[in-house]
Amino acid sequence: MCGFVGITGLQDAAAATSLALQAVQHRGQDAAGIGVWNGGYVRVHKDEGMVAVAIPPQVLAELEGTSAIGHVRYPTAGTGTRLDAQPFMTRRPTMILAHNGNVTNVPEIEARLKRRGISLTSRCDAEPILAVLGDELLKIRPVGFTEEDVVEAVAATHRRVRGAYSVVAILEVAGRETMVAFRDPHSIRPGVYGQGPDGAWAAVSETVSLDVLGFTHTGDIPPGCVMFFRRGEEPVTREVTPRPVHHCIFEDIYFARPDSVMEGKRVNAQRWSLGERLAEEWKAKGFEADVVVAVPDTSRPAAKAMAERLGIKNREGFIKNRYSGRTFIMPNQKAREAAHRLKLNPISEVFEGQRVVIVDDSIVRGTTMRRIVQMVQALNPKAVHVAIFSPAVRHPCFYGIDMPSEQELVAAQHSPEVLEAALAERFGADSVTFLSTPGLGQVAGRNICDACFTGRYPVPVSASEKQHIETDRRGA
Ligand code: SF4
Repeated sequence: MCGFVGITGLQDAAAATSLALQAVQHRGQDAAGIGVWNGGYVRVHKDEGMVAVAIPPQVLAELEGTSAIGHVRYPTAGTGTRLDAQPFMTRRPTMILAHNGNVTNVPEIEARLKRRGISLTSRCDAEPILAVLGDELLKIRPVGFTEEDVVEAVAATHRRVRGAYSVVAILEVAGRETMVAFRDPHSIRPGVYGQGPDGAWAAVSETVSLDVLGFTHTGDIPPGCVMFFRRGEEPVTREVTPRPVHHCIFEDIYFARPDSVMEGKRVNAQRWSLGERLAEEWKAKGFEADVVVAVPDTSRPAAKAMAERLGIKNREGFIKNRYSGRTFIMPNQKAREAAHRLKLNPISEVFEGQRVVIVDDSIVRGTTMRRIVQMVQALNPKAVHVAIFSPAVRHPCFYGIDMPSEQELVAAQHSPEVLEAALAERFGADSVTFLSTPGLGQVAGRNICDACFTGRYPVPVSASEKQHIETDRRGA
């Protein structure tokens, strides 16, 4: 769960990158960094914390260059410390690189790099991508890389690096300052690009970064391709490893900003359509209710759509406290309840005497929903139904979304046939409804990754890789 920004062809590329990074701050708050390219000289600054803290104005002013790469980090591999923050750089070949995703075969890559005399300095999985790409380029020639060389090196990177990754890098290609962008062959993680003033280009995780810069969203970084961006020129796209697209549907459900456009669709509109579909499936069960209430913030469009489709009220029933900090482990039940209320407080009259549908995006461990239902039950509603606008999360994600292990996923503890009834009992609700997998497919199409719901991983993950990722995550 990270976000990247790459910009080329702007006089003050670092300042623009800092702005664009703040638009994707929701993708990672543990660390941030910016690397600049100034006529072949490179400089990287990274630190812990959010963008404004990690890259203060006096540092930003010193990051001179016409191309820059920035990153916000939420670790799903490695730590959230400065050591594992991105971007990374090499001097031979001279290159800066950042990525979003999760490389699943780091030990295998590391062992092979070691045999070639190349060591890694961090636990961040961007570094192996950079090392492999650099290694493959140097196998072709020591300096003076052509576009053909980069295509060949990215093809080899696709073969050596497994998992999900959207990458942006700056290096010299064909004697010119060039920004290069590519995604894993299945394009699991997002990546878009856009055009700015005076021939500038940007490649970013979400379109909201382009919006904040005033750049025009031009398209998605195409699957299985590498793109070359240079100031004042049209981008060059070269096909490398064409494979079926499996875009992460959890971005649309939960992670991405609602005002972003992913794979050509506005995230807000996707959540709305999922809410409509959920309404159909919920109604088909013969349920009735008076009011639909969203668990803020992600679920709002789905809850509104559901209410509209059911022809009943939609009300704001929970107020989220944006200023509550981490609550750590509370010593007793009463303190835990207080901490929970500090984060989410119900408006009692919305629930009293009503048949309520509580809408949320997903259920992972189930602890939050149990507390929410308990809180609502104390307000004397007539009935409490829980409706989730995604299927049940039964499998962990190995592609860059932070999720607990299978043992901690509440849905994995019950068979599909009894799951909804079991969770209704566990939460103390009258019913629990998940969107069906075919329902999700009908809204989102076929070109998605839905492995956390179905267990069908588009890039196979071996048992040892799974174990390494789980161990690394626990240590993160
Ligand atoms: S497993 Fe789930 S969260 Fe992970 S990439 Fe696939 S859809 Fe996204």
